[in-house]
Amino acid sequence: MTSRETLTRQEALQHFHEFLPALPSYGAARNQVQPAYGNVSRLSASIRFRTLLEDEVIETTLEHHAFESVEKWLQEVCWRRYWTGWLAQHPEIWTRWRRNVRTLHEELSAERLARAEAVMAGKSGVACMDAMARELIATGYLHNHARMWWASFWIHVERLPWALGADFFFRHLLDADPASNTLSWRWVAGLQTAGKAYVVRLSNIKKYAPHYLTGNPAGHERLADDAVSAVFIREDAVIKTPHQTVPISVTQPVGRFGFWLHPDDLTPEIGPLAELRPTSIAACWSERVYREKYRLSEQRIIALRTVLGDGLARASVHFECPSLTLNGDDPVAAVCAWAVEQQLVQVIGFAPMVGPVQDMIPRLKEGLGKLGIPLTLVRRPSDATAFSFASAGFFPFWQQMRRHLTVLQA
Ligand SMILES: Cc1cc2nc3c(=O)[nH]c(=O)nc-3n(C[C@H](O)[C@H](O)[C@H](O)COP(=O)(O)OP(=O)(O)OC[C@H]3O[C@@H](n4cnc5c(N)ncnc54)[C@H](O)[C@@H]3O)c2cc1C
Repeated sequence: MTSRETLTRQEALQHFHEFLPALPSYGAARNQVQPAYGNVSRLSASIRFRTLLEDEVIETTLEHHAFESVEKWLQEVCWRRYWTGWLAQHPEIWTRWRRNVRTLHEELSAERLARAEAVMAGKSGVACMDAMARELIATGYLHNHARMWWASFWIHVERLPWALGADFFFRHLLDADPASNTLSWRWVAGLQTAGKAYVVRLSNIKKYAPHYLTGNPAGHERLADDAVSAVFIREDAVIKTPHQTVPISVTQPVGRFGFWLHPDDLTPEIGPLAELRPTSIAACWSERVYREKYRLSEQRIIALRTVLGDGLARASVHFECPSLTLNGDDPVAAVCAWAVEQQLVQVIGFAPMVGPVQDMIPRLKEGLGKLGIPLTLVRRPSDATAFSFASAGFFPFWQQMRRHLTVLQA
């Protein structure tokens, strides 16, 4: 299988419009892992980096279909926002996970680490799981069901630390999302919903993806329905951070100001910042940090470069001003240098989500602050609404979201 992820906005819009007529049958079809993936959208990379907005996916869906006929699809599209809003209130989970990944490499025995490496390389000896690992490495994509099986196999069959498995996904998935990935892994591990873990079963794979099993039965016995039981892991209680109010609009500053574009939102031409008239636009990232600190795969790096380039090109046309990519070892220093060189009085951008970009914010604020340049971060109003619903489980979230979307369609 080859990588077919949509990355640029044009590709994503075209693909979404082609998929649109299939949405009423999505709910019944989505769990099946078909080799060509025709029953799912494969829009996740575009949605994660926001070259395609959840808002426009929802709006266009509701323009073409009655709510009830596409409810399952709308629910799934809202899952990422739910996880993102939930993680915003529990950012410690992200920080702890990143710390765990580092310490596990130092603390795990050489034997366990070697086993982890073998399983990730598709050499566990369980043929269907090895096929999934190799598919992930080759294409940067796995169907949702395959992600669940593989994560469960890693945790409950191989009994390896969930944090390292989540890191493997984060390094390879083209849609890698700090919230959806970390929290889905925690859900499989039984950490997200108390007392509930997801346990892989051979009968479930047989039902939903027999093609993974054909040809090579090696290791099936390790997945037999009565062979796997959940491993429950203990962890220190997670502290909930009070809901943070972030501005949802900004007025055009007097004087020269810069637009800071980053991979958490790459469609600035739609939404609360679209009417601004910046002097300069910059997207910053550090290939070296992504390679060395996060150890991202080569196709992840290429995908990031592609989505950033696409966002930057569109922003430049929309705002009618020059744009540049700052790719340096220290992105914070690069943004500060850009602000000085462009004689900016302010820098404006979208508020990042919990993850690598948000981790830069304290230093960025401090750096720009020392130069007397305020950094203003704005949240989309629709994110603010969705995040305010995301303080408990998904189903209370969905009840509120459903009401909200039904009103929008009326
Ligand atoms: C262990 C594990 C790790 C995961 N890691 C990620 C990740 O890093 N990034 C990511 O975007 N999704 C992640 N998911 C969720 C889900 O598997 C993918 O979003 C989905 O498979 C993407 O394929 P698609 O675009 O064809 O989805 P479709 O079925 O077409 O769904 C449409 C859109 O809805 C959203 N969506 C669907 N299912 C989920 C879900 N369960 N959770 C959150 N959003 C969902 C995505 O934006 C997706 O593009 C993970 C799930 C598991 C079990």
